[in-house]
Amino acid sequence: MVSGLVLLAIAIALSLMAADAAPGNLGYETSLYRYTDKPSSAAAAGGRTLTLYIDRDFDAAERERIGLALQQWNHVLNGFVRLHPSLLPSDPAGRTLAQLRRSGAWIVAKVDSRHSAARDRSALAITIGNRGGGFVYVIADRFGTRDLTAVMLHEIGHVLGAGHDPRGHLMAPVYDRNNGHCIDRGAAAMVASAQHLPLNQLNWCVGPGLDGGRVSSR
Ligand SMILES: [Zn+2]
Repeated sequence: MVSGLVLLAIAIALSLMAADAAPGNLGYETSLYRYTDKPSSAAAAGGRTLTLYIDRDFDAAERERIGLALQQWNHVLNGFVRLHPSLLPSDPAGRTLAQLRRSGAWIVAKVDSRHSAARDRSALAITIGNRGGGFVYVIADRFGTRDLTAVMLHEIGHVLGAGHDPRGHLMAPVYDRNNGHCIDRGAAAMVASAQHLPLNQLNWCVGPGLDGGRVSSR
């Protein structure tokens, strides 16, 4: 339990370091945010596993940043659903890809702005799919200094069935580094609803500005 929490703290710290080469750029104090750590009653009951196939075009650093997002969601999901990353088979052409899709898998694909999924010019990533699986398209040439982990936290929210919440934090429609750096209660609640999970047994991020998933009136 303790080591898990420490890992998460490191994960969050890492995700912020890489996002901002220049210190002092962030609008929030990272050490003030942490995840709740409720006992996992679901582990014994056996949760569902959801496999995400990661495009081999992501380099080692990018795969790690995606892994950090999966790690945080697994902590939030607390054993009820487990996200399992797997490298996409090296030659996913034709039948193999179709087989993966039929099995209900999710594929995290690295594309650039020329890809048809990148038509919305403001999008950093797009998730297309349903309960039977789908694609998360990461439009890699649009990232600049933005944080892949934070964007993946948001996209995995979609994978798990959450929509956008204009008053939310992680699931706000527009990427905001000061809002979307961890999985707030509002995001956990949307996923709990979509996946039929007991929200009170899930974890979420707590810290300044995160008041139970509602934006304060200030
Ligand atoms: Zn979105």
